[in-house]
Amino acid sequence: MSDFGLKKLEKTIKSLRFPAANPLTLNFLEKTRDMPNIVKSCEDSPEFGFLKIRNLLLNNPLDRIKYLNVMENMTDKFGWNDLWSQIITVPQIFGTAYGVYKQFQTLKPNISIKSINDNSKQDLHHNSDNLWEKLLLYAKNRWGIYRIGFTRVPRELIIKGRHILFPYALVLIEEMKKDRIDTAPRAKAGFETIRVYNHLGKAVLDIAKWLRKHGIRCQPNHPLGGLVSYVPLAAKAGLGWQGMNGLLITPEFGQRQRIAPIYIEHPVFAYTDSTEHSWIEKYCRICKLCQKYCPPDAIQETKSVYKTNVETIGKLSRCLDPIKCHPQFNKMQGCSICVKVCPFSRGNEIFEKIKKQILEK
Ligand code: SF4
Ligand code: SF4
Repeated sequence: MSDFGLKKLEKTIKSLRFPAANPLTLNFLEKTRDMPNIVKSCEDSPEFGFLKIRNLLLNNPLDRIKYLNVMENMTDKFGWNDLWSQIITVPQIFGTAYGVYKQFQTLKPNISIKSINDNSKQDLHHNSDNLWEKLLLYAKNRWGIYRIGFTRVPRELIIKGRHILFPYALVLIEEMKKDRIDTAPRAKAGFETIRVYNHLGKAVLDIAKWLRKHGIRCQPNHPLGGLVSYVPLAAKAGLGWQGMNGLLITPEFGQRQRIAPIYIEHPVFAYTDSTEHSWIEKYCRICKLCQKYCPPDAIQETKSVYKTNVETIGKLSRCLDPIKCHPQFNKMQGCSICVKVCPFSRGNEIFEKIKKQILEK
């Protein structure tokens, strides 16, 4: 490995240090460790993405070489045309960072744990159908969020070493605009990714406040840096199914969306769990477009199953080689080529058409 290559690698490992040991998350874990009813991860839980990449890079020389090879051959299309998109992304990055910070702020003992507990005399099961309708309306009118599910969080989906305060989850989905994602891997697509992280982050913080006003104790989780593996959680909540590249496919937006949950204390709403979208797996086996167009060839043909018997969804599989995807994803502010080429990302009409074809076979 050349000196230049080693320097680049060292820089990458350093840049992964902050998210790998996010002090905000650690602070949250510290403060909430002894709270009653917390739900902890288990042995089979997935690892936190950045931490996994960092460990692989630190401990495996072959992975280091692979990572550097991808870096050297990356799709690099940034030019003057992208400058404006990069400039307008800056406030979105600050907004996103603030949202990540703010979600843990709600857990300061004198603010949130107290305010959460102040609602303890609530009648949680009172009129929940009516509340569900009100919630859907509020999320749609205030935040433009059209899809919400409700489910129980299995321990296997909580990121290894982390925990959540409450065992049930509202799962919210927000669309990324098609015309912007269609420019991937240009900066405009990266801007859209960050814009939705920022907007959805604000939305879950606000909707959590709304729920507390209605007597529901809850903990919002920002779409960036989750405590739970979001894709299988959203699939379990009946919002879609995992595609070949590991991302969620929904009927409305295909892969053009981001996910964020709000954990709540009691099963106040009816579960939306469903496997009705599991046929997507069958279509992925025929399509494979994301795999074909992924520049560093990061999408695995054969998935390794690391957990079976997960409530509702069955198995959990590994879909990506993170050592190949990460350099491209990082450099291109989100890459998103696989999202763009996925036929489902064209919208609901194509989803229904493919569904009909697959189910009639
Ligand atoms: S984001 Fe998708 S297309 Fe881009 S490198 Fe990762 S898997 Fe490949
Ligand atoms: S591009 Fe094709 S194979 Fe990849 S996730 Fe979408 S439907 Fe599945």
